[in-house]
Amino acid sequence: MSAMAETKQSGLMEKIVALCKRRGFIFQSSEIYGGINGFWDYGPAGAELKRNIKDAWWNDVVRSRTDVVGIDGTIITHPRVWEASGHTTAFTDPMVDCRACKKRYRADQLSGETGKALVVEMGSAAEKTVKLPKGIACPACGSKDLTEPRPFNLMFKTYIGPVEEESSVSYLRPETAQIIFAQFQNVLSVSRQKLPFGIAQIGKAFRNEINPRNFTFRSREFEQMELEFFVKPGTDAKWHEYWVKERLKWYESIGLPKDKLSVYNYKKDELAHYASACVDVMFEFPFGVQELEGIASRGDFDLSQHQKFSGKSMEYFDDEAKERYIPHVVEPSAGVDRIALALLCAAYDEETVTGENGKTETRVVMRFAPRVAPVKVAVFPLLRNKPPLVEKAREIFKLLQPQFTTEWDDRGNIGKRYRYQDEQGTPWCVTIDFETLGEKGSELKDTVTLRDRDTMKQDRVKIDELVPLISAKLRNSPR
Ligand code: ATP
Repeated sequence: MSAMAETKQSGLMEKIVALCKRRGFIFQSSEIYGGINGFWDYGPAGAELKRNIKDAWWNDVVRSRTDVVGIDGTIITHPRVWEASGHTTAFTDPMVDCRACKKRYRADQLSGETGKALVVEMGSAAEKTVKLPKGIACPACGSKDLTEPRPFNLMFKTYIGPVEEESSVSYLRPETAQIIFAQFQNVLSVSRQKLPFGIAQIGKAFRNEINPRNFTFRSREFEQMELEFFVKPGTDAKWHEYWVKERLKWYESIGLPKDKLSVYNYKKDELAHYASACVDVMFEFPFGVQELEGIASRGDFDLSQHQKFSGKSMEYFDDEAKERYIPHVVEPSAGVDRIALALLCAAYDEETVTGENGKTETRVVMRFAPRVAPVKVAVFPLLRNKPPLVEKAREIFKLLQPQFTTEWDDRGNIGKRYRYQDEQGTPWCVTIDFETLGEKGSELKDTVTLRDRDTMKQDRVKIDELVPLISAKLRNSPR
């Protein structure tokens, strides 16, 4: 990226962060106490956006299929879960300290590469040592007096019960996946599924990241949407390919533009020792092309480890082949917060428009796909101090509210209310005016103005037609 392009991009990120605060998408956690690094709260618009992402995923990955079921597991588990999975020993990032200014870095980020080669991947820690290239200086103070990289475990530790001792140590889960593996047999026995089938889960995960950065992109508390799709050994490659395609289609279905999506295929030497393939779904953020989701073919590593550590069989009886084996797994693992950030970045747009007073102005508009937009319809009485208008508008609000996420706004002039909704990404606004009431014998009685966010076009629509019309628009976009 050229220096100019870089400045422009970082300017864009600043604008997005400001909009997120201004319109209630994302706030700094504990802001009144000065904030806490790596933690973020979602405001009213952000909470809806996240819920829409999770609903879209759950609907498409679980509910609309016959071969995937869901679970909802705990954040704190028996610590043996993390011994079996390898997290206790190997879930580390290489950490480097500057001896001069005491700043702390992740070695792979210091080297200026986001490349995978320097990161200690799970399960491969023993084989890979991380070395800093010669002559690297501290980005903060310029000193070259840096420590050698050493592994730092990313799991948050806690204690169960009143006594803080070694035997009561547990961890906040660093991923949701292991809860699925640990419950594999229970789910199998209740769900009447046969291979191939999947178990899905959405929930919080926690990682004590050395360097949280890029807004919510790398947080210490975040949410994952993970699917463990169990397959017959030998069919891994086919299912891996299938899920990469499915997931890419899904990203387009929530409105991420195709030209900003790409895939990164792991090379053989970048894979964890048990994995046969891994593809990351990447998105072009203003701060660079970065991972949204990892889709890994993990063989039988996880179930075998749990079998070994728990002493409980993780085998599956294949009644067609009449044989027992530990299933292999394909794992599409996505982060809700990264997807929310990608949607916010993709949606942000500015355009020059002519305002009501004839002057040109900049319109900021969040062009979310209606499917994920926090609010679908906003309802405005033209004036707030005219009871018949407000009453009629309330009636229409009540008509729409059970069908769509609907917002009421009666403050300020209509132009300002449109601008507010544009910044929140609301696809449609409905205005109730005197003609709706049929004043002065207006032919437009029982019609309202339906205003489109993207075209700013305003159409007169019969009240009776509002619900079917908006439902059809919602169904038809963006896929
Ligand atoms: P990275 O290389 O960026 O640290 P990862 O490869 O370790 O990520 P996975 O362990 O594959 O990530 O986790 C699956 C998904 O969970 C990621 O694709 C991402 O969307 C999300 N995720 C992981 N770590 C974070 C984090 N610190 N903040 C927000 N989301 C995260």
